[in-house]
Amino acid sequence: MSADAIKLLKEKVFDKSRWMQLPRDVVIGHDVFQQLPSVCDDLKLGKKALLISGKSTMELAGNRVREVLLSNRSIVPFFAEEISLPLIKKAEMAAADADFLIGVGGGRVIDTAKIVSYNLDRPFISVPTAASHDGIASARASVAVEGGHSSLQAHPPLAIVADTAIIARAPHRLLAAGCADVISNYTAILDWELAHRVKGEQVSEYAAALSKMTAEILVKNAPLIKPSSEESAWIVTKALVSSGVAMSIAGSSRPASGGEHKFSHALERLAPGKALHGESCGIGTIISMYLHGGDWKGIRASLKSIGAPVTPKDVGIDDATAVEALLMAKDIRPERFTIFDMGLTRESAENLVQMLYME
Ligand SMILES: [Zn+2]
Repeated sequence: MSADAIKLLKEKVFDKSRWMQLPRDVVIGHDVFQQLPSVCDDLKLGKKALLISGKSTMELAGNRVREVLLSNRSIVPFFAEEISLPLIKKAEMAAADADFLIGVGGGRVIDTAKIVSYNLDRPFISVPTAASHDGIASARASVAVEGGHSSLQAHPPLAIVADTAIIARAPHRLLAAGCADVISNYTAILDWELAHRVKGEQVSEYAAALSKMTAEILVKNAPLIKPSSEESAWIVTKALVSSGVAMSIAGSSRPASGGEHKFSHALERLAPGKALHGESCGIGTIISMYLHGGDWKGIRASLKSIGAPVTPKDVGIDDATAVEALLMAKDIRPERFTIFDMGLTRESAENLVQMLYME
């Protein structure tokens, strides 16, 4: 074979090699903290852990996790009330002689544990107390930096142990936001396919199919999503883990993050702290679905029935800010091509925001 032919073969075949990192033990259900010792044994995690949690989540779940594991392990608690680079440094120092990490709480806590685990190269267990976004199972973590948020690459959790009784007790707003984050997979996939057609970006069919199916199952079950229901917590947590797995298969957040996520990040920059991540992604999904020519009214109806916001007003943001966020979306992570790169005008952006209020 000629050198050129070998080179071509290498490019065609060997470029297909992928390294997929997936969670290994996933335990979701009622009162599953009892399974934690078995999970640690199964994964041969060692005897010393740093347990990262928030003040209220420590009381809600962290202390119980500690009790369950204390019989033959040393578990050192660490409070992470916010996520910041100095706090991550502190947590890294506290974890210096830990064999593994446990993150018990919401997004900030899980992300802190995820980054510390990545930086120190130690495994970590994700113990979510709310099902508000797919970060509970993904490899990406978001940290506040000057002028917005920065998304960092890390490892996915080695195990996820999610107690649905605890998740069901979290405010419904969080669960509804988690649903909206999963529903946004629809337009994330449409954007990925668009980027394939327009820019030749490679699409992982497995990741795309799993991500889309996850959103479909959730929409099909939308009538079952109710406040304080353990069944709802179970459906949504499984969907969030499944979205995380789709991202792990793809090796990027592409299957679960398209233009609607860029809109969400833009909105967070312009009106920080108003909408939850999933909430603004849901609103972005309605708009993106319209631009893709899909069933945007169906998406809006599902979000409404779940109890997720569907207009800027619902999250206390004025329409003009939402218009700016739509126009800014293409400049957030510009290498990620989406429908917002197709030349959205200010007039269209204004009409799109008004469309959200239409009966
Ligand atoms: Zn998301």
